[in-house]
Amino acid sequence: MAFLLQRAGYRPVAHADQADVIIVNTCGFIADARRESLETLQSLAANLREDQRLIAAGCWAQRDPERLMAWVPELDGVLGTRSWVAMPELLAQIKARRQRLVFTETRTMALPESVGAPGYAISGRSAFLKIADGCSRRCAFCAIPLIKGDMVSRPIEAIVKDAQRLRDKRVLEFNLIAQDSTTYGRDLGYTNGLAELLERLVAVLPESSWLRILYMFPGQITPRLIEVMATYPQVLPYVDLPLQHAHPDVLRRMNRPSDMQELRRTLAELRARLPHLCLRTTLIAGFPGETEAEFQTLLDFVQEQRFDRLGVFTYSHEEGTLAARYEDDVPEAVKEARFDALMTLQQGISLERNREQVGRVLPVLLEGTDENLTVGRSYRDAPEIDGLVLIQRRVAKVDRMALVKITQALEYDLIGELVDETEEVAPSST
Ligand code: SF4
Repeated sequence: MAFLLQRAGYRPVAHADQADVIIVNTCGFIADARRESLETLQSLAANLREDQRLIAAGCWAQRDPERLMAWVPELDGVLGTRSWVAMPELLAQIKARRQRLVFTETRTMALPESVGAPGYAISGRSAFLKIADGCSRRCAFCAIPLIKGDMVSRPIEAIVKDAQRLRDKRVLEFNLIAQDSTTYGRDLGYTNGLAELLERLVAVLPESSWLRILYMFPGQITPRLIEVMATYPQVLPYVDLPLQHAHPDVLRRMNRPSDMQELRRTLAELRARLPHLCLRTTLIAGFPGETEAEFQTLLDFVQEQRFDRLGVFTYSHEEGTLAARYEDDVPEAVKEARFDALMTLQQGISLERNREQVGRVLPVLLEGTDENLTVGRSYRDAPEIDGLVLIQRRVAKVDRMALVKITQALEYDLIGELVDETEEVAPSST
């Protein structure tokens, strides 16, 4: 959207109060995300000037435009995820007609290359690179397929071209994103699409680049994918595998793979082939019908697997999903107690896993510095999700890789010292 708006003559400004048009990219995934989107819209609406236009875009805008218009009467327009390419057209029409408009119909030009736009967003030396959009799975609790539709993969050539552009802009970290990255390319006829894509990407990226795969799906991590991850230094030994639960009956009710033996085999294989693997997962507490015994199985599994990173959501009914037909029968207080139990267990594990890093020398992407503190991330830290590496002093230059010796571990972050302040290094991940 930013690309299309700049092409139409708009330019970005630093603060909302300087803008002629304010666009809020809403999230409609779960109740907490909608609350945050609504609060943002309402606080912007409260301070809106007569000459400013306020637009809601994104997933929630796609899912529930009428409710958004009703709850935020100051909105001038709503633009869904399936119509994002129409943002300049929406603004032109609002200006010309001075009336509120809603665009949510599916446009044929859903992928960025169809309008000559890049499929990435850059922040410093890090970029998110979209490889596919939408999801063809039907997990019982998830509204994403209702919002975004089935998976549509971007052609490999388009992704490689984007990666080359990013490389030329001196981007160092490439975070590949899709709702289900391990199924990348199936709609294009690939059987091992992600592995193939990675091989094409490593061919154009320097060895020191970081390629991080986000959002894998259980049962889809193939031997070929593990082989590619183990072979190329660019592909980080970082696996983000949202599992949601560990009891086969709950997983079946969730309409997700429930073969825990196969999952354990895959995790063991990943650990064997990728030394110093960083493993992240996400879980749901309080799914309909979750018994004490089923929850205990989940706790035991977390204890057994000792994930490096773990996120937990409490279950909330999402309109239109399969699970919304079940009775939401786990009381809120029980959901909260289970959330707390998982987080408390994980805090101890996370601290232990971090302590295992003490003494290691890790390449760190330095991202910010002030008087007494520099912050960066190692291969174990996905941007905006995981922890940080903290260096307790100012450094001369950021937005670069540096080698850092880890000296101390906190629950979520690490503390370290620069190995050599003067040298710009070309590190591998381990
Ligand atoms: S794979 Fe992820 S995005 Fe797709 S339906 Fe399941 S939870 Fe939703």
